[in-house]
Amino acid sequence: MRRRALATLVVVALGACVPLGWRWWVLSQPLATSWMDPEPGPRPLPDVPRGPLTGLTVYLSAGHGLLLHRKDHDGDPIAWGTQRDRSHGMIEDEWTARFVREELAPELEAAGATVIALRERDTHPDAFVSDTLTGVVGSLGEVADPAAEGGSHLRLLPGGGASWQLPDVEPGHWYVYARWVEAPDQDRHAIYTVVMGDEVREVVVDQTVHGGVWFPLGDACLDRAEPIEVFLSGSGEGRLSADAVRVGGGTFHVVLPWNLETRSAPYSEVAMAHQLERLGGPAGIDEYDCGSAVSDMRLRAHWASSVWPPGEEAVYLSIHTNAGGGRGLTVFYGVDTQPPTQTRPESRRLAKLLEDAVVDAVRERDPEYRTMGTRPGDYSEISPIHDALPSALLEMGFHDDRVDAARLQTVAFRQDAARGIVDGLIAWRAGAPAGADLPLGPRGSVPPPDPWSRLE
Ligand SMILES: [Zn+2]
Repeated sequence: MRRRALATLVVVALGACVPLGWRWWVLSQPLATSWMDPEPGPRPLPDVPRGPLTGLTVYLSAGHGLLLHRKDHDGDPIAWGTQRDRSHGMIEDEWTARFVREELAPELEAAGATVIALRERDTHPDAFVSDTLTGVVGSLGEVADPAAEGGSHLRLLPGGGASWQLPDVEPGHWYVYARWVEAPDQDRHAIYTVVMGDEVREVVVDQTVHGGVWFPLGDACLDRAEPIEVFLSGSGEGRLSADAVRVGGGTFHVVLPWNLETRSAPYSEVAMAHQLERLGGPAGIDEYDCGSAVSDMRLRAHWASSVWPPGEEAVYLSIHTNAGGGRGLTVFYGVDTQPPTQTRPESRRLAKLLEDAVVDAVRERDPEYRTMGTRPGDYSEISPIHDALPSALLEMGFHDDRVDAARLQTVAFRQDAARGIVDGLIAWRAGAPAGADLPLGPRGSVPPPDPWSRLE
């Protein structure tokens, strides 16, 4: 009996491990000529798997999380805990993170999008960072830069290369990140080759943008303790920045100022306001000039807006569940009252297309799913004053409604809702007007994700 229970547990744990696959580029040449024995000189680009959302970056905010609560959001600290209470078996703070981690982000990535999650997706309490380089080819020397991990990074000639070794990690589902310092003379097709055990994948990134941010290279499931190596090379069209790589999510520690007790939690469980170290990006944006803290919600919009590079096609999506009497979906586009500011038309169109697509997708299996419509919302996260991106805030259902809370906690709902959000983004990118009949099955043309390439 006990053994059966254990087996069930293992199946559940493995079932939660969903490596993404899509963002990895397939190896285009024999391995021995590329990362294993780096030679100076440019590399041909790997083949590019494409999907209907290739080229779109989604800044994805899972609502709430453990927070050092402050008086009036930005005053003195007064409490530590989740931002919403347990209701009908769920806590919104945890639900949003799980939906983003297990269903929405993988679905977006399977459609080709780049997802920059504003709360850590790797649930491991451990994180390992390496900024020690080996096998450097074409060094231009170490350069001090506040955007670099540890305060400096190595610049490489076009076609140069370098590698990092991460420590063996225990079996499980791990995310790997890389960090560089951006510069206009750098390679728009820098190639990161990630080797985890006997598997290898390649990711191509633009090193003229997204500097100083921990940029996702992807995730993998390891079934035994394995070393992880990351190799940087490039197309040869520009210089390279070799800074640091990371595996794992890590743990946030806070000393409560009123009793000096320490609280600790995996970054995946805490609010974005405590994740600047895990996200990277501009320092100091969590405080106003007067020294007051920027609220969790407002900081999310400020951070995404500040790391959003000019010209990048992107949206900001905020995921929540609702309370206060009601049932069903509500999708908000941002307005503001201080000063009175109308929404951007792109955000309004985005919100309406997302509403229609989510309702369509969920009702295929759950015809009772309701919508309360698309509405203006005076929320900092999507405010046209605080958030520069086209944005929408989705309240997926009411966690204080018994029927909705039960629905939200089913895998079927979360999978269908995630597909719906992808459909809505596809329609938005295609320029569909708000309220347009969406084409049926736009995902039908999406090939399955590419598997890892196997090392022989
Ligand atoms: Zn909420």
